[in-house]
Amino acid sequence: PTIFKSRESLTPEYIPDNLPHREKEIKALVSAFKHLITSPGSFSQRVLIVGSVGTGKTVTARVFGRDFTRAAKIKGYNIRYVHINCHRNRTLYNVVTEIARQLEIPLPSRGLSVKEMYDAILGYLDESDTYAIVTLDEFHYFASIAGSDAVYFIVRTYDDINASIKRLNFIFISLDTSKLSLLDSTTESYLLRHMIKLKPYTSSELFDILKYRASQAFYEGIVDDEILRFIADYEGSDRGGGGNARHAIEILLLAGDIAESEGADKIQLDHVRKAIMKTSREIINISESILYSPVHELIILWAIIRLLRRTGRPFVKMGEVEKEYEVLCEVLGEQPRRHTQIYEYIMNLKKAGVIDARTSGKGLRGRTTLISIHYGPLDLFEKHVEDLIYRRLG
Ligand code: ADP
Repeated sequence: PTIFKSRESLTPEYIPDNLPHREKEIKALVSAFKHLITSPGSFSQRVLIVGSVGTGKTVTARVFGRDFTRAAKIKGYNIRYVHINCHRNRTLYNVVTEIARQLEIPLPSRGLSVKEMYDAILGYLDESDTYAIVTLDEFHYFASIAGSDAVYFIVRTYDDINASIKRLNFIFISLDTSKLSLLDSTTESYLLRHMIKLKPYTSSELFDILKYRASQAFYEGIVDDEILRFIADYEGSDRGGGGNARHAIEILLLAGDIAESEGADKIQLDHVRKAIMKTSREIINISESILYSPVHELIILWAIIRLLRRTGRPFVKMGEVEKEYEVLCEVLGEQPRRHTQIYEYIMNLKKAGVIDARTSGKGLRGRTTLISIHYGPLDLFEKHVEDLIYRRLG
């Protein structure tokens, strides 16, 4: 039996129906291109979308393109959406042939210059009374490889032509604006005029995204909110993560695969930890950062891992850790350190990125420090820490 209702819906190619927390950006795109309905051909729009990896640049443009052209079609307008990845198509020649291919415009396979091909595309749009929105994704590749003349050619399509009806419109997608500064200032200012900036996702935004994507991908009851919150907290930009939705979804997919391969009927925290470990090189870095830790810092770490494993909870409390630490000290024949020293060790472990520690909100019993570990698997990590302690104690 499978826990997936639709595993494909978590793969990178899949385009979801909705985009939680990108509604405002999609509205901005609709308003930028509404002239295609209200006064088609009056001008050629150019919008720039910037944001770091996994902020939803590609999917925002695609969802906009899909929904906008669909709605236009119902009203009888002929608008096409074209999405080109410039990582794959880095030359002007490739980009222009790709536009023609996606618009299904027959071009002779050889013999035409780029300019002639481009004119053929514009001519075809005129003949068929078609408008097009062309997205050039990873545009910074195109800019740096094809060069500023090529960028100029695209961005200023209608500057040198006397076209009364302007049919081609563009969305440019780039990691940031600094990559575009090599362009001449007029071209650059053309690009910067309409800019939509996507911020890295916060933990609570990622939670909503994961919740939605998980509801599409898994049968009910397979993934608890606690699991989604754990991933969201790990990746959220306000929690020191990258705010990268791609990474968060990748972890969820991988955790599902691991749960399924282990024959589990639900996704557990340790499946997520394994998935995080597989998607990052974290455990290697962690092993290095505790290599020279004082032995009592290691014993505290050991206590944290044991508690997390035993309780199966995402967090353990400072007070619980201290008790477990005292038990371990007794087993090892070591004199336990005092509270302030323990607290300092915990802060050191946090600084080194080995653990995550934060103050709980004000609860019934006042504030407490909540400690968690996002990578794993914890059994292997425990073995590693235990070995290190026994070696150190001789
Ligand atoms: P970028 O182009 O900025 O690197 P993508 O658009 O490729 O980011 O998004 C990365 C992944 O996260 C994709 O699988 C995408 O479907 C998903 N994603 C991003 N933002 C959202 C969102 N707001 N809601 C649902 N899924 C999202």
